[in-house]
Amino acid sequence: MKNTKPFLDDSPVGPCALAGEAAPAADTLSHIDTLSRIDTWVFDLDNTLYPAGCDPWPKIDQRITLYLSYLFGLDGMSSRALQKYYYQRYGTTLRGLMLEHGIGPEEFLDFTHDIDRSSLFPDLALANAIAALSGRKLILTNGSREHALRTARALGLEAMFEDIFDIADADFVPKPAAATYERFFERHAVDPARAVMFEDLAENLIIPHERGMTTVLVVPKPGQMDHRDAFEIFRAAAPPYIDFVTSDLARFLKGLAPDAPDTTDV
Ligand SMILES: [Mg+2]
Repeated sequence: MKNTKPFLDDSPVGPCALAGEAAPAADTLSHIDTLSRIDTWVFDLDNTLYPAGCDPWPKIDQRITLYLSYLFGLDGMSSRALQKYYYQRYGTTLRGLMLEHGIGPEEFLDFTHDIDRSSLFPDLALANAIAALSGRKLILTNGSREHALRTARALGLEAMFEDIFDIADADFVPKPAAATYERFFERHAVDPARAVMFEDLAENLIIPHERGMTTVLVVPKPGQMDHRDAFEIFRAAAPPYIDFVTSDLARFLKGLAPDAPDTTDV
């Protein structure tokens, strides 16, 4: 039986953030004990490896709106409404375009991920914390491999991961579909019972939990900007399929490798 007590930390707000207030005090022992058996560390990309207050995601969101405007000759508001309809119905706007209009994914992904990432800076604390973990580290994203590579590079994390499982690897079926996780487990020979998933979207942790993974919801620090849509933001108490909650991924991970360099406060 996993420890389902949510974990919150007491660190200050990080980059791309508005001023915030301290979170509740840490309870470090429960997650260290639970994660000691983990040999595969799986990370979502957007709003997980960088805070939800950073701007890559809203830039992509705006590029998707623009793409739909070009494609269908729509004004901005109509394009935006269609985009969110597809997103909520199919999990990604791309999935809706592919199924309803036969749109090919390459042009869409190239256009929508062609963003300026200069607001991101190397995250030394996170890099050290991930590097110190024992086992394999993988990215599982609904975005493209190129986007993941460029974003990881901007964050100084490009050398941390064994591989990236992107939306093309998932045959363009996005999380939270069970088939995508099954394909991921098979491709990378992941034993869910010895793996942990870090995600900013709670619904993307339901299937991982059902398959036996430990699950960690990554949330913004109190007071931090959050660019995600209102329906994506989880406001309730953590349900049983979420084992831990953290608003500071680097600090959460550092507790698992006590000998790692202490750079979380710089
Ligand atoms: Mg995400």
